[in-house]
Amino acid sequence: MLDNPSSAKPFVSWALGLSRSGLTDLPEIGLAHEAAAAALYRLMKRAQKAGFKLSIASGYRDYERQLAIFNAKMRGERPVYADSGVLLSKQSLGSRDWLHAILRYSALPGTSRHHWGTDFDIWDPTAVPSGYVLQLQPSEYCGDGPFAQLSSWLTTLILQDDAEGFYRPYTGESGGVAPELWHLSHRPTAKLFQPLMESASLIHVWSGQAQHLGQSSDCETLAGLQEVESEHDAIMDQYVRSYWV
Ligand SMILES: [Zn+2]
Repeated sequence: MLDNPSSAKPFVSWALGLSRSGLTDLPEIGLAHEAAAAALYRLMKRAQKAGFKLSIASGYRDYERQLAIFNAKMRGERPVYADSGVLLSKQSLGSRDWLHAILRYSALPGTSRHHWGTDFDIWDPTAVPSGYVLQLQPSEYCGDGPFAQLSSWLTTLILQDDAEGFYRPYTGESGGVAPELWHLSHRPTAKLFQPLMESASLIHVWSGQAQHLGQSSDCETLAGLQEVESEHDAIMDQYVRSYWV
């Protein structure tokens, strides 16, 4: 189906997290793109042989969920941190700096790779005591961190292009999204969604006016829409397009 250009419309809504109709619900993984999930099962099996229980901390996330996270941060109802780990205050930053501080760690709804069912945040629950609260912090995935060994096992496979098609889009090498060692993306399927996102009118979606793409009519608008709109293209370049393959 993905090869058929005439079926592009449903996939725009899928790319933006507005439709789940192309996704499959699978054990241990949840909603996912079928081919990405098949590759993930293969990677999990190999991890098990290497002594890890590669598990999903966060997989598919829809537009509304991402909108709720983003809007809560924009309004200062959810903590926003600097790279140093220091808690930021909305009052002490200008509106532009506040927006960019949020974009370091949270995607604009409609632009999250988690909308596709091809990207997964991973961890190993057997490497930590039960009741451990996962932070998804770099310190957990390097040095003495509990998932450092799993992470370096994955790094080796990725460098050898032997990770069942998975790679890490967020390495921290550009000035956009902060490094995320836990975020794996299935390149062969993820790259199919990129042109679909480009063609869609995200401004319409952020205004809550994309019913033609399956958006619910009572969908909230994006908090800070004006701020985002004023530098939409630059934001897309810095936080979205620079991670495309
Ligand atoms: Zn992620």
